[in-house]
Amino acid sequence: MKILVPVKRVLDYNIKPRAKADGSGVELTGLKMSMNPFDEIALEEAIRLKEKGIASEVVAVSCGQTSSQDTLRTALALGADRAILIEHDGEFEPLAVAKCLVKLIEQEQPKIVICGKQAIDDDANQTGQMLAALLNWSQATFASKVEVEEDRLLVTREIDGGLETLSVTLPSVVTTDLRLNDPRFATLPNIMKAKKKPLETIQANTLGIDLTPRVTILGVREPDPRSSGVRVDSVDSLIDKLKHEAKVIA
Ligand code: AMP
Repeated sequence: MKILVPVKRVLDYNIKPRAKADGSGVELTGLKMSMNPFDEIALEEAIRLKEKGIASEVVAVSCGQTSSQDTLRTALALGADRAILIEHDGEFEPLAVAKCLVKLIEQEQPKIVICGKQAIDDDANQTGQMLAALLNWSQATFASKVEVEEDRLLVTREIDGGLETLSVTLPSVVTTDLRLNDPRFATLPNIMKAKKKPLETIQANTLGIDLTPRVTILGVREPDPRSSGVRVDSVDSLIDKLKHEAKVIA
């Protein structure tokens, strides 16, 4: 059973995003980029399924610029067997990513695609769902536990009221929640070995997909700075301030 894991290169989660001076987007120049954290979780799950002997091959794929090769090398160092870059210099919207993945899936024939539930740069939470719809596959989103049965997946999801368990047909698209697992770190020997693993590049414009963006970002600005708090010396004075100054209680 082959598993495909789409991994996106995003601004590292430890870096505070800053809006560009002209408000056209988030500043990325010279900043550390990393694998989207939910995709690290997706990859970890796929690698664990391989280690258990359930999966036979883990293929990581990234849609983006040449620089996404770094993210794919990280995926290879973490345990993916092969990597594929679908290269495109321009904007890559979730629908275009999903359509490119469909083309790749037609060639690769994986049984499971494990995506992150969202990319932390666009917070779109769209790609996995659109991919499942385009493929007419089952989908199980926000997985906190995944078990493989013969021809089905048992997926546990954290919902408002507790835990929901779904049984879905294979092939399937799963998207990962934060508590699915704790991803491993790449060891130095594995980083070295990853340099020799296969990394193929496919030009997105050869796939026959309209990659033209449909959404225009009108502006990006940082949140207004918060005013500093005020210390009060008693509960009575707090209630007084909430009533008469902030006017948030009557
Ligand atoms: P999004 O719909 O943009 O929030 O992304 C959800 C998930 O789709 C991510 O966690 C990735 O698994 C996958 N994905 C989105 N964009 C890309 C991309 N450019 N390359 C590879 N995978 C992606």
